[in-house]
Amino acid sequence: MSDPKFVLCQDCLKLKPFTDARHNCEEQCECGGDFCGCLYCQETIEALMAGETKAEVLGTKCDVSGWTAERGRDVIE
Ligand SMILES: [Zn+2]
Ligand SMILES: [Zn+2]
Repeated sequence: MSDPKFVLCQDCLKLKPFTDARHNCEEQCECGGDFCGCLYCQETIEALMAGETKAEVLGTKCDVSGWTAERGRDVIE
């Protein structure tokens, strides 16, 4: 496994390029959520990029109805 390239917002699931500040929670997402760039989150990112939507596969709190790297998950109104 190579070095992590992305961090994942734990709240809105937005993707950002990996930086130590983000990984160490010194920089937060626009939504106020914390970023994480651990190996577990890299697997979540790969699953999201593959179009996976099920929470049990992604390891997220709830199913994802739609997702893009720029906007994160679609918010269900
Ligand atoms: Zn966020
Ligand atoms: Zn993580």
